Formats: sequence, structure tokens, C-alpha cells
Amino acid sequence: MTIQTSVCVVGGGPAGLTLALELARRSVPVVVLEASGHFNRSFRGESVSPDSVWLLDRLGLLDRLDGGYVQMHRMEISDSGHTVFRAEFSDFRYPHPFPVELPQPTLLAALAEAGAGLSDFRLLQGATATGLLYDGEGAVAGVRARTSEGETEVRAMLTVAADGRFSKVREMAGIEYRKVPLERDVIWLKLPFPYGEWDDRTYRVRIRGDQHGLFIPTRPDSVRVGFNIPKGGLREMRQRGLGALYERLDLLAPELSGAVRDEVRSWSDTSMLDIFTTVVPRWAVPGLTLIGDAAHTLTPILGQGVNHAIIDAVTLAPLVEKAMGEGGSTGALLSASEVFQREREASVARSRALQLRQERLFTLDGAVGAAWRRSLYRVVSSSPWLVRKVLAGAYFQLQEPGERVAKMQVGM
Ligand SMILES: Cc1cc2nc3c(=O)[nH]c(=O)nc-3n(C[C@H](O)[C@H](O)[C@H](O)COP(=O)(O)OP(=O)(O)OC[C@H]3O[C@@H](n4cnc5c(N)ncnc54)[C@H](O)[C@@H]3O)c2cc1C
Repeated sequence: MTIQTSVCVVGGGPAGLTLALELARRSVPVVVLEASGHFNRSFRGESVSPDSVWLLDRLGLLDRLDGGYVQMHRMEISDSGHTVFRAEFSDFRYPHPFPVELPQPTLLAALAEAGAGLSDFRLLQGATATGLLYDGEGAVAGVRARTSEGETEVRAMLTVAADGRFSKVREMAGIEYRKVPLERDVIWLKLPFPYGEWDDRTYRVRIRGDQHGLFIPTRPDSVRVGFNIPKGGLREMRQRGLGALYERLDLLAPELSGAVRDEVRSWSDTSMLDIFTTVVPRWAVPGLTLIGDAAHTLTPILGQGVNHAIIDAVTLAPLVEKAMGEGGSTGALLSASEVFQREREASVARSRALQLRQERLFTLDGAVGAAWRRSLYRVVSSSPWLVRKVLAGAYFQLQEPGERVAKMQVGM
């Protein structure tokens, strides 16, 4: 079977589905290929930055998501049992000051549902891109895919790789990238929320020496726990048994000691995240553009992956619409993709730099390092201006009053 369309998006995650929706709303025909047959992913991006909440509102999706997310009101960091940093998001005077916890299946289902009502939107689930098609000039002209109905070719003027942190399309196109591993990996698990002990509107970060844990309230009635292990250290930890995992958590959150022993009975109740960032010097080649994690994988700190995936999509869509309106030549689409990269790159770099600074603070060990870290957090925490300045890099890049907001067009 051959499908002809204007844009073929590989990957129906937050980046791919938001882009497809925005293109279809602009009457640009789009086909999304998603390898998975469903949206049920656990241990994926659920923390959504205030900027993306603001965008989802402008995209008309917040109402659709009503009841599917929880607003978070504050962030609290404690080091060796003492609170050293506290930010109240209500102190920020932005249209949407609160990050939200929004499970990815809920977000993806809402995007797919909004797209399903549009004649230019087509989502093929259970469809895996397996190869690239090229035109006579060497430009990417679509993909070959394996679907439940057999081999399919999707021919398109523009192919978009939105296939995530291990992007196969990026690989197949031979696009250069640099993977920068961080010093640690993270183990994720979910536990029942300890109501009575904790309020469920606070992001908690707990640090002890060179160990840290993130404790994120999540729907329904759970807490998502992520704690660091040395890079590649999972095998050693597994050899030591689940007792080693329980003890790690005891150290950071004794409130969860009972729950972790009741709920985590095997390693399959946990998920390991290999932490790295990816830097891709050129996000586009003729006929192909990368977006989301495929263009710039980030770390889990301050929930930036979904944020940049959504902003990428909303930035690229009007540029593609314009290039298509001018005939959709390979050259025009490549220029649009290059403008897209220029518009997005600095913002991604700013979030990455903030994450790497934070990661370095987490890894400080020894009395001097830990004392310095505590002092730094305390100094920042004591100044609302500094708190705002630090968090702005992750949370409020779009909502700053001024030109950027006006420039961000969304097609509703
Ligand atoms: C454990 C974990 C926790 C995280 N926590 C957060 C968080 O709290 N907040 C946050 O903002 N970010 C978080 N992230 C990162 C976040 O999930 C990603 O940044 C975000 O999902 C990126 O969106 P994307 O659309 O670019 O890629 P993805 O969400 O990875 O979507 C890519 C899609 O492409 C599909 N695909 C892959 N290959 C093919 C193929 N060949 N053909 C067809 N389809 C294909 C995949 O099935 C997938 O659905 C977390 C990530 C992990 C792994």
C-alpha cells in the first residue's frame, strides 16, 4: 500500500501528535506513524511545565484535559533533613504559573481525539517506520513502514522524525549527534501517596550526600519516585537485591519505607532511566526534520522533555504551513526547518544548562561540597528575584511579557 501526504510524522508522542494536530488545523495533510498500538506508557514524562500548560490552553486542549491533571503549587528541596529551598508557584505573576502532573496517556489521547475530528489528520497506530524513501535528488521523500496490514510506503514532501530519544529515523538518515552521558542513572518507581504525611501539591527533592530523590505526586493517588544510582550501576544493585533499593529509599524518605516494601516486590516494579542529553548540530537534512527528543534529549530535571516537545511542534507548524503555501519545494521546507532550529536552539540550550548545573549540585559530596550546596540553595531561596530567575529557564521562557508571546501562533 502507498499513502501520499504532505507531511509524514514518525512517532506519536507529545511532539509528533502536537505537530500533526497543528498542521491539520492549518489544512496541511499529515500522517502520523506510531509504533505502539496504544498510548499506555508508564514512567514517562508526566510533569508539564507552566509554559506548556499555557500552550495547551491556547491550543484549546486544557478543557479537554480537565480532571486529567493536577496543578502543583510549590517545590521544596531538603538537604540532610533541612529545608534549604522553597518556591511557591503562586508568587509568579504569569497567566499559568503552575506546572501540572499530567499522565502521558491522557495527554496523547486528548491530542489524538482532537486530531481525529480533522480531515487532514491521520494517525496509524501499530505502524513502525523501518526505512527511508529518497527522491532522485537524494532528499528524503517519506518512509517505509511495517503495519498490521503489511508493508506500507508513506510518501511525503516533508518527513518529521518525532521518534524520541533513541530515534531510528535520525540513525537511518545518518544525522550526526553527540550523546553526553551524565554521571548517574535514575531508578523510577510508583508508590501509594502518603496522605496525612505529605500534601499532594508539592514537588519534593531530597538530598543526602551525593544521593538524591525526586518525589512527584501523580495521578491517581500515587507518588512517582526517582532516585539516582551510579552510571551503569543497576546490575550491581540488582545483585545486592531489593533490600539495597529499600535502604536507599529509607535514607531519603523514611515515610515511604513501609510502602516500598509492600509495593516493590520485584525489579519489574521499577524502571531504569539511562540519563543522557543529546546534542544534534543540524536538526534537518533535505526532506527531513527532527523534533522533540530526537532533536534534543534532555534529563528529567524540572520536567523539560514534554515542554520542549510541545514548543517545538507549535513553532514548526506555521513555518511548514508557510513553506507548503509557497509550493512546498524541498529547498523551502529545508529553509523552514533551519529557521525552526534557530528559533528553538537557544531555549533548549538554556534548559539543558540549567539541568546540568543542577545535576552538578546533586553530585557534590563531602562536607565542604554539601555545605556549599546548602548555602547556595538557601541564598537563592531567600530572594524571590533569584528564585524567579533560576526557574524562568525551565518554566517561564514563553510567558515573559513581550515579543515571544506575540510571535507564538497556534491554530485553534
Ligand atoms: C522514565 C522517564 C521519565 C520522564 N519524566 C519526564 C517528566 O516528568 N517530564 C518531562 O517533561 N519529561 C519527562 N521525560 C521525558 C519525556 O518523556 C520526553 O522528553 C518526551 O516524551 C519527548 O516527546 P517526544 O514526542 O519527542 O518523544 P517520545 O515521547 O519518546 O515519543 C516518541 C514516539 O515515537 C514512537 N516511535 C519510536 N520509533 C518509531 C518508529 N520507528 N516508527 C514509529 N513510531 C516510533 C514511540 O513509540 C513513541 O511513542 C521522561 C522520560 C522518561 C523515559
